[in-house]
Amino acid sequence: MPSVRPAVLALQGSVEPHLRALSEAGAEPIELRRPDQLDDITHLVIPGGESTTLSHLLDLHSLARTITDRVMAGDLALLGTCAGAILMGRDDDEAPRRWNLIDIGVHRNGYGRQVHSFIGDIEWISGPRSGASEGVFIRAPRLDRPAAEVEILATRAQEPVAVRQGRCVACTFHPELTTDTQVHRWFLEL
Ligand code: GLN
Repeated sequence: MPSVRPAVLALQGSVEPHLRALSEAGAEPIELRRPDQLDDITHLVIPGGESTTLSHLLDLHSLARTITDRVMAGDLALLGTCAGAILMGRDDDEAPRRWNLIDIGVHRNGYGRQVHSFIGDIEWISGPRSGASEGVFIRAPRLDRPAAEVEILATRAQEPVAVRQGRCVACTFHPELTTDTQVHRWFLEL
């Protein structure tokens, strides 16, 4: 994959498992901490962690604006998992401030607190794979009211848990914590 130059945002959260998944998918990801590192990056993963902290750190390092500008210009693909997915959603006046990259409501801790984290069945409809698989949900957000341009990739109990709009993909669960690297492989081809 010579033209694919992926990175994982490495300010906070679950960075290492994404680096491993991207490497297993055949790429050579870098850890990204500064805006200038974005210049030649084609695919960026925003990992899970704590979305409020992540949002502050992104502002502190002047990264949020650079990332969203690059995405809007069409030359950066984004994969957000959990806290990353929260940032990418629709700005419905919920904190932290959302980036409006995917036109869908994303509600923090939608299944409850840490003790309500779980591994559960998900059903793939489109995108990386089809059929049933397991998803790791850690203080996961819940998605609702997707706009027409949002493609539903996977559901759990009829609710979307993985979605895509253009080259932006959001998963409320953690594909990097299972051995299946299909999500990362598919993302690298967007
Ligand atoms: N609940 C966290 C938040 O609101 C996200 C949890 C996660 O990324 N695993 O930021």
